[in-house]
Amino acid sequence: MSEVLKETYTSPCLAIVVPCYNEASVLEKTTEHLLAVLDDMQVLIGPNSRILYVDDGSKDDTWDIIKQQHEADSRVTGISLAHNSGHQNALVAGLETAVRISDFIVTIDADLQDDESVIPSMVSLALEGNDIVYGVRSSRATDTWFKRTTAQAFYRLMSGMGVQTVYNHADFRLMSRRAVEALLDYGERNLFLRGLVPLLGFRQAQVEYARRVRLAGESKYPFGKMLGLAFDGVTSFSMKPVHMVLWIGIAFLLASIGIALWVFVCLIQHKAITGWASLMLSIWFCSGCVLIGLGIIGEYVGKIYIEVKHRPRYNIKDERL
Ligand code: UDP
Ligand code: MG
Repeated sequence: MSEVLKETYTSPCLAIVVPCYNEASVLEKTTEHLLAVLDDMQVLIGPNSRILYVDDGSKDDTWDIIKQQHEADSRVTGISLAHNSGHQNALVAGLETAVRISDFIVTIDADLQDDESVIPSMVSLALEGNDIVYGVRSSRATDTWFKRTTAQAFYRLMSGMGVQTVYNHADFRLMSRRAVEALLDYGERNLFLRGLVPLLGFRQAQVEYARRVRLAGESKYPFGKMLGLAFDGVTSFSMKPVHMVLWIGIAFLLASIGIALWVFVCLIQHKAITGWASLMLSIWFCSGCVLIGLGIIGEYVGKIYIEVKHRPRYNIKDERL
């Protein structure tokens, strides 16, 4: 590094964005672990580096605890959303706040199931010129069989539907300021960050870690919410379901032409039509397919409806920065 550069070089500022929904039972440990990580990285990052909690409209003491922790250590900061806006929106709220004050932003879940000790490696990779560093789970041994199987089915479904995601990567990643700014430019309401980030381009890298068990509390992603996320992921990024409906429709049309020909042949041969059961069955079957098709198209129309309204993703009620 030249002398001039050395003089003007100041260590980059890191923000660790942590969405929290009813995480009061885990926050003490989370803060302890993350502050220890910040301490360990003193040579890499500037003194203004911090934790930024995003209280996603929690109903427990989460925000009170964050305020207390902020009093005790100014590196603990937070914003409180006016209502529960969902994990993805909470992340965006954190990114929008953090991007104003930091050079690099790491997002990590409050339960520290993702190993915070790889954050220094993420920062080193970022300092080497990577704009996005994904945390990738090398092992899911601590997850329940159900969580593991459904999560893997989810990644397969996404790639089957043509949505580019990083296998076994959730929302534990580091992004540079310009990558976050590019991400925030996307501005869509139906958020599926895991699908958007790979689209950004820039230089990208990965670090691996073994997923751990929750430090405390329960999962805030029950099966229903997970299905919702998968559905959002597919319908926000892929037109394949609509194409599939079209092809199924064409196949049915061809089949019905075949059946019509067969009925015609039967008529000519004066054979009585005895197929009441098959007739009823096909009516039900076809109506079912039509309804599924309508449902899928309705889902896309609904998404357009939400996008055109352009409602704010979240409202901030309070902040400690
Ligand atoms: N979360 C959130 N808003 C929600 C649901 C979850 O901010 O509506 C946060 C939650 O506090 C946690 C992260 O999102 O920090 C991931 O949730 P969780 O660990 O419960 O999901 P899992 O790891 O079980 O998939
Ligand atoms: Mg978790």
